[in-house]
Amino acid sequence: RAAASPASAVAPGATADGHPVALLANIGGPQDLAAALEHGAEGVGLYRTEFLFLDRAEPPGEDEQVAAYRQVLTAFPGGEVVVRVLDAGADKPLAFLPAPGTEPNPALGERGVRLLRILPDVMLGQLRALARAAEGTSATVRAMAPMVASAAEADWFAANCRAAGLASGVMIEVPAAALRAAELARVVDYFSVGTNDLAQYLFAADRQVAALTGFQDPWQPALLDLVAAAAGAGVRCGVCGEAGSDPALGCVLAGLGVSSLSMAAPALPWVRAALARHTLAQCRAAADAARAESTPKAARAAALAHLPALD
Ligand code: PEP
Ligand code: MG
Repeated sequence: RAAASPASAVAPGATADGHPVALLANIGGPQDLAAALEHGAEGVGLYRTEFLFLDRAEPPGEDEQVAAYRQVLTAFPGGEVVVRVLDAGADKPLAFLPAPGTEPNPALGERGVRLLRILPDVMLGQLRALARAAEGTSATVRAMAPMVASAAEADWFAANCRAAGLASGVMIEVPAAALRAAELARVVDYFSVGTNDLAQYLFAADRQVAALTGFQDPWQPALLDLVAAAAGAGVRCGVCGEAGSDPALGCVLAGLGVSSLSMAAPALPWVRAALARHTLAQCRAAADAARAESTPKAARAAALAHLPALD
């Protein structure tokens, strides 16, 4: 087993005045648990389950999935674990799904929840396995759908989660979902903002094209506007894209109303320290100042002026 010991006594993430911001890890499977625990993760904000399915002729059986999910859940007694159902498409092809290889723009094609609606069996197996894995554990288990663009898609996923006895959430990574966050909040229990894809679709800039990395800068004020829209919709809202791993931006996201930050484990101590050194009022002032600017560089400088411990 990869997990050394269950989550231990690192203080939970919070601002200097005690406003909680859960600090969670992004993982690809049980092999990443040791690093998550070592860096004081309180739980998992994004379990990318596609790694269980890659390089295989057939999907993993339910028992195999139950074992993998249970290993993750038992590592965080009383913690939160968000499990994203399969996020496949022409950009992440799987041998046992019909090849959508003819799509001219895979990132804009039948990927994520769109593919799950066409081929629901894999997802239904995942939800059953997750519900079984959760039995007898004390973690708060949340299932999450990728690439949701509309309330109708969110509603479809939520109904399937309810049938399996699971809480449902959606990734906010398509601009339309952020813009209509209030509608989506009526049908699911929580959001997690995927800033990587959200930036890609917001700026129409392929995240894999090196020449366009400037658009992936999470300090883009337009991206912060969409995070604010999601965080203000009335359901718990985390961030699980790369944005959360920048300590100053972590403070800004807390100021926008985000309730958890999930990231690659090594960044957790830095973000924890930055939050602990600033009040929620400072985080809010930093967020307002960043959104008032027009470029990522100016947004970062304006935010830092309100975050003296990072200046
Ligand atoms: C994202 O899009 O920001 C995200 C967290 O998901 P992935 O990187 O797996 O697409
Ligand atoms: Mg994504």
